[in-house]
Amino acid sequence: MHEFDQKGEELIQSVFRYALDRIRNEPPLDGPMSATELQSLVGETVTPEGLGGPEALRRYTEHLAPACISADHPRYLAFVPGAPTKAAAVFDLIVGASSLCGSTWLDGAGMVYAENQALRWIADLAGMPESAGGCFATGGTMANLSALVAARHGADAKRTAAGLDRPARWAMVAAESAHSSVDSAARVMDVDVLLARVDGDRRLRGDAVAEAIAGRPEGTEVFAVVATAGTTNLGIVDALDGIADACADADIWLHVDGAYGGAAMVAPSVRHRFDGIERCDSLVVDPHKWLFSPFDCAALLYRNPEIARAAHTQHAGYLDPIIDADVWNPCDYAHVLTRRARGMPFWFSLAVHGTDAYRDAIEGALEVTRATREMVVAADHLELIVEPELSVVAFRRVGWKLDDYQVWCDRLLADGTALLTPTTVDDGPAMRVCIINPRTTVGDLEEILATLA
Ligand SMILES: *Cc1c(COP(=O)(O)O)cnc(C)c1O
Repeated sequence: MHEFDQKGEELIQSVFRYALDRIRNEPPLDGPMSATELQSLVGETVTPEGLGGPEALRRYTEHLAPACISADHPRYLAFVPGAPTKAAAVFDLIVGASSLCGSTWLDGAGMVYAENQALRWIADLAGMPESAGGCFATGGTMANLSALVAARHGADAKRTAAGLDRPARWAMVAAESAHSSVDSAARVMDVDVLLARVDGDRRLRGDAVAEAIAGRPEGTEVFAVVATAGTTNLGIVDALDGIADACADADIWLHVDGAYGGAAMVAPSVRHRFDGIERCDSLVVDPHKWLFSPFDCAALLYRNPEIARAAHTQHAGYLDPIIDADVWNPCDYAHVLTRRARGMPFWFSLAVHGTDAYRDAIEGALEVTRATREMVVAADHLELIVEPELSVVAFRRVGWKLDDYQVWCDRLLADGTALLTPTTVDDGPAMRVCIINPRTTVGDLEEILATLA
């Protein structure tokens, strides 16, 4: 028996027991500690002799875990919460326990087959053609980057085919409301972002896209337009149909970033907001946000996966015999090689519960959102900033400055009530809550808002 495997059984039992309790029970909210506090509680853990299983696990359960905030707590309303179904969370243990690599069909055919069915469900929600396909990446950041790299590769190939040189600069068009990861992708790719204005209703529209394309600097060519289906700060869905027209007119790739909001395509009450999404060239939806999957999981889909394959496939002597086979290799569709089959917990939960349960859970969050909007509108001391389109409610407390919001948020976290964080809207401080957790109730919001009176 290898040294690694001694006392293995006891350790398996105790780790498993902790994991199952965490999945079964209401999560704690907890909160961060300083590095100094952690140093005094936890001390050094990486030692030549090892701490042994019970002691290492004790330091985690007693000190390290409580210094983290559970994103599935029903009153975690900051950023975008993460609230996996129990089926997805428990299946993640299987993915971790099985050393199955999700890179290629050779290694992971069974998992890739299942992941592709989950991707197909999202493609169908969007109305993408049968040819659509892609893979699961770590998050919206990596998925956006991978899609935009494919878009530029496609644009480069088109210019080469037309006998044109590379332009002096490549650029993408995006609104200021686009997610920060779009800017980050531009930096990684060394391309420019041409900002398109949004309308009075904060939506990017086709005319603004056409304007931005026409106004590009001399020597710059646009390879992609990024539209957002559910902005992270306010939940606004850009006018996708008109943007698709502008992209078609200019023969430019349309990337739709639905990392947060795309899940709401399944909800009949808001589906119309996504009209035109079926015309995208690439789409990102994060199951680790509103599709109840554990971190980290982003669905990345391409209308024409061959373009992505040409952009992303890695070549090496030891890979080529596998990569060149006529099979679906997820690593061909993103900036990745070795890959956890991170779509599997999501797939399992979808298979267990059925897609109707997803529709109902998302409609449920939309209802809690509408009730929250009512409470804000009804309170004299609160001001609704924008009509909620998806599940973000943004508001101001009359007379408050940024510090007041921060003090209030700090108090809520310190007394274990909730995690909220202030944001900025129109250059002024504001509050936003993002409601996706099926266990978040109207009562939770009522109690939280009551503390603002
Ligand atoms: C969260 C988010 C991202 C980034 O996704 P990560 O999974 O955090 O990397 C990108 N775009 C939008 C619209 C988002 O809400």
